Amino acid sequence: MIKHHPTDEILSQFVSADLPASLNVAVAIHVDMCPCCKSKVAALEATKANHVFTDESIEDILDDEDFEGSSALFDAITMDESIDDVYEVQPKNISVNEQDYLLPRSLSRIAHSKFMQMGKLSRSRVALDDGPLRSSLLHIAAGGEIPEHTHTGFELTLLLDGEFSDESGDYVPGDFIILDGRHDHTPITKEGCLCFTVVSSALHFNKGLSKLLNPIGNFIY
Ligand SMILES: [Zn+2]
Repeated sequence: MIKHHPTDEILSQFVSADLPASLNVAVAIHVDMCPCCKSKVAALEATKANHVFTDESIEDILDDEDFEGSSALFDAITMDESIDDVYEVQPKNISVNEQDYLLPRSLSRIAHSKFMQMGKLSRSRVALDDGPLRSSLLHIAAGGEIPEHTHTGFELTLLLDGEFSDESGDYVPGDFIILDGRHDHTPITKEGCLCFTVVSSALHFNKGLSKLLNPIGNFIY
């Protein structure tokens, strides 16, 4: 069962479209996998829609003389039949290290680079132009681990498939884990896993050999 969810604040920002693009995608994937957050989002959307329609400023806009001029645009939008077209999102499979995975719906229309490999880690950059936030698909092969590290910014890990664990416990697909500089951890996977990650800066390794581990930190960022 999914134990780690976005906070209510993040869900509310998601509904108001206030999140950076990469976090927006992460929440959309989680909501697709999590019935609990799906119903929270539906409730938030209903509340927000209610506010819009009871908002007096809308009446002011409708009463505004200038609005008449803009109604041509409004007509153009509502009369454009192509906007009603509903397209089916085709499921997209990817293969990493000879294992096949079904990509989440929210990622199937976003390009991602070829997987680069470093030991048991494989990373593909997801093409979301989002300033310092970098999104990736990160695959860790069975028996792989990421050395103990903390975060100079924050690291969001959304487990898509497989399992991993760290000092705080075991994770299942759908778990949405945000960590920052207050957390040290050593993720390890027995069976292998595929994650969607959003990282705001390179990781910081805590133990000796940190110079040797820096390439991994940059690899994951
Ligand atoms: Zn949830």
